[in-house]
Formats: sequence, C-alpha cells, structure tokens
Amino acid sequence: MSIRIWANHAHIFQAHLRPNATVEELLKYIDEAGIEHAVAFAPFPGPQSEGLADRNEWLAEQLVNRPELTGFGTVDFNAKDISADVAHIAELGFKGIKIHPQYQWVAIDGEKMIEACSKAAELGLFVTFHSGVHFSPLKETAVWLFDSLSYACPTLRYSMEHVGGYCHFREALGVILNAARRREPQRVFAGLTSVFTPGGWYLSDSDICDLVNIAGEDIPMFGLDFPYNNPEYAKNAIKRILSLDISDNAKELILGGNLRRELGYA
Ligand SMILES: [Zn+2]
Repeated sequence: MSIRIWANHAHIFQAHLRPNATVEELLKYIDEAGIEHAVAFAPFPGPQSEGLADRNEWLAEQLVNRPELTGFGTVDFNAKDISADVAHIAELGFKGIKIHPQYQWVAIDGEKMIEACSKAAELGLFVTFHSGVHFSPLKETAVWLFDSLSYACPTLRYSMEHVGGYCHFREALGVILNAARRREPQRVFAGLTSVFTPGGWYLSDSDICDLVNIAGEDIPMFGLDFPYNNPEYAKNAIKRILSLDISDNAKELILGGNLRRELGYA
C-alpha cells in the first residue's frame, strides 16, 4: 500500500532562535521521514517573533516556491483589531491558523477567541488548537470548553491536537461526538500529534482505534510537532498507524487524506 503522507503541525522559527526549526530543516525532515507535504506554522507573537515586523508576512516569504509546505498563521490576541489580524492571515494565502490557548493566555471560550474564530470560520480558515495539559490552570484549559467554542462558532472547522492527551482523551472525544449532532459534515477533528510515546499526551493503540471506530475514520489527522520530535519519531509514528487494526482507507485518511480534504486540496 503506497500512501501520500501529509502531516499537520510544524513550528517554524527564525534560525537565530532555533537553528533546527527553519523551513530548510523542515524540508530535510519531511524528506527523511517520507512525508510529501506538511503544514508550517508562523511563530507566535511575543518572544518567538523577536525581531520580526510581522510574523505571518515573514512566514509567507519563507514559503515562496515551497510547494511541499502549506502555511498557517498565528493570531495576536493583544491586537486592537483581532478580526483584521485574522483577515490578514487569509490575505497572505494561508489556509489556517495555529492557536495555543495556554501559551497565548487566551480563554478557549472567551470573547477574544470567539472573535478570532468567527472571523476564521467566515473566511474558511481551518484552526489547529493545542488541547490538553500544558502547565496552566486546568479550569481555564479544560478540553470540554472547545464544545462551548463550537456552539459559539458553529461553522468553525478545527483540530484538537493531542486529542486532549492521555488525561483528557475521552473529554475530547465527547467534544467531537457532540459536534456530530448537527448531522452536517464534521467540523471537529483529532490531531494525532505527539501521542505516540508515553508522556502527557500519550494515546494507546486501543485509544486510536476507539477514536476511529467511535468518531469515524474521517476525523483523525497525523501531525509532527516539529521541531520537538525528530524524523525517527515521525517514521515510528507512521509505522504505528500503519500497524493498527483499522481499514487501509482509515490509514490513508489519517496519514493525509483528511488533512488534504479540509485544506481544500484534491
Ligand atoms: Zn504545537
């Protein structure tokens, strides 16, 4: 079975901040891991964007003539006009946005988030969220709060990366299943990112099979968490997905088909 592997979730940094996280390093990484295409995230506002006039424009420049990569922007939740910041991401030609509620100190169901996500939904941008434990008050980052966001922004399409992780996996599954109540095409997806080795975000084979069997094979999406995982990790993750007791079609969808569909690629 030959599969076109597309992966979500690669963080790009300026070389002086993280020499192993540039676009050139990502291209080497995906080549080594046998991945055809990856989604590259702009740095977050703040220290990660040190020295940049505009982090999203900077990423757009980095991605010129890089057909192997799709860009996702980041939102400045301290901007005077959050909707305009989101609109700029779409103007740059990006297909989505990476939001890390804990790192960016923004409430999952708060006003600023709802403003950004309403604009993203209006513009057809896909949002990739961190979900799960990240060393901040759990009452502010409870995974079920994504359900409130889904109610506030019913047409928003998004992935919960790590699917809530080891501690909140079933809560994330609840958010996904509850979104299916609308009987429309599914809009909430499960990012299989950094879930492959024991740790806070670990998911077992049976968790991943349950996700496919309960939520559906069109829900999970493979992700890298570049540069925090090396190519060997990605290769082992791909092997693990291929070894699961699920259909070949489900494996193809997880390893690229679902991401391609949601980003509007054939
Ligand atoms: Zn991330």
